[in-house]
Amino acid sequence: MKNIPEEHKRVCAVIDLDAAVENVKSLHNKLSPGTKMLAVIKANAYGHGAVQLARKLDTLDIVFGYAVATAEEAFELRRNGLDKPILILGYTFPECYEKLVAQDIRPTVFRPDMAKELSAEALRQGKSLKVHIKVDTGMSRIGIFPDDTGVSFVRQVMGLPGVEIEGMFTHFARADERDKTSTLKQFERFTSFTKRLEEELSLHIPLKHCANSAAIMELPETELDLVRAGIAMYGLWPSEEMDRKKTLLHPVFRLYSHIVYIKTVPAGTPVSYGGTYVTAKEQRIATIPVGYGDGYPRALSGKGEVLICGKRAPIVGRVCMDQFMVDVTDIPEAVQGDKVTLIGADGTEHITMEELGDLSGRFNYELACDLGSRIPRIYANLLSE
Ligand SMILES: *Cc1c(COP(=O)(O)O)cnc(C)c1O
Repeated sequence: MKNIPEEHKRVCAVIDLDAAVENVKSLHNKLSPGTKMLAVIKANAYGHGAVQLARKLDTLDIVFGYAVATAEEAFELRRNGLDKPILILGYTFPECYEKLVAQDIRPTVFRPDMAKELSAEALRQGKSLKVHIKVDTGMSRIGIFPDDTGVSFVRQVMGLPGVEIEGMFTHFARADERDKTSTLKQFERFTSFTKRLEEELSLHIPLKHCANSAAIMELPETELDLVRAGIAMYGLWPSEEMDRKKTLLHPVFRLYSHIVYIKTVPAGTPVSYGGTYVTAKEQRIATIPVGYGDGYPRALSGKGEVLICGKRAPIVGRVCMDQFMVDVTDIPEAVQGDKVTLIGADGTEHITMEELGDLSGRFNYELACDLGSRIPRIYANLLSE
C-alpha cells in the first residue's frame, strides 16, 4: 500500500479484500464439489469489518451464507442489504425473535423454551423459520447432548409448527492441534447421533456441519454438507501446530502509522511511564501515535517491534494509551513523518498478527478483535499491487 489517505495517517488498518477472496478459494479447493461454505464474520469479521467483507464475498457462488455470533450482528448485515442465509451461532434472546423471523435469519436452537417461542413467533408472522440445532460433542458450551435427551429434544422440535430443521451442527474444541484423536471422537459422536435421528425419527437433515478452519485444512473428511470458515479466511492460522505447507493463505490485515516525533536523548534517559526503560547511550527515540486505546497491546511494552524504512525498531518503555516509543538509533535514515508498519511487510521484513499475538500473551484471534473501533479501516484490493 503506497499511499495512506492523509486523514488516516495517525493509524490505519488496510484490509485486503482480494486476499480474503483468495483465502476463501484456497479453502474451497480442499472441499468436495457441492459442499457449502459459511463465511464466519462474527465480531465484526474478527475485527476486519463484517459488512465490507460480506459485500466482497457476496459475489462468490461458493459462499452459501454467513455465520455470526449474535442477533445484532445478523441485523447489521440485513440492514446493509446482504440477503444470503445468515446463521447465528450463539444463543439468541427472545426479545430478538420478532425481527429474526421477519428477516429470515437462522437461529441456533438447543433449549426447549427457545424452540417453542420461535415456533409461536413464526406462526404469528405466518412464516416458516429455518433453524439449526447445536449438538454438544465435547465443548461443553452450548448444545444438546447426543443421547436420548437429545433425541427427544429433536422430536419435540420436529413437532413444532412454523419451525423447519434445516441444519444440525457441532463445534470442535481441538481441531487445531496436531493430534486429531479428540476431534475425530467428536466427529464420530456427531455423525452417529445424526444417523440415529435419521433412522429413529426419519428426519432428513439437509445441512450437517462441524468443520471450522482447522478442520477444513487438516481434516477434510469432516466436511459433511457445509463448512464454517473463520480465521483462515483472514489469512491467519488457527494455531502454531497447523501445517503451513498444506494451505496457501494470504494475510488480509495490515496496520500502519507514521512517526510524529524523533529526538536524540543522552544516556540515562528514562522512556515512558514508570521509567522501565533507560537509554544505555545516546539514542534516537521515535514516537508513534498509537496505543492500547486502539487495542495495540500494552503487553508489547519492551517486547514488540515495528517496521520503519524496512527495518525492525524495538518498542522501548511502556505502551501508553495513545502513543508509544521505539528506538531508531540503528535506523539513521528514519525521519519524522515516515510510515510505520505495525502489522504487515516493509521490504523484506514482515510482522504478523501471530507474532504480536504471541509476544503480547494473546493469540491472533484475540488481537485481531482487539484492534478496535478507534482504528479506521480502509478497504483495498492489493494482491495485484
Ligand atoms: C468462531 C466459530 C467458527 C469459526 O472458527 P475458526 O477457527 O475461526 O475457523 C466456526 N464455528 C463456530 C461455532 C464458531 O463459534
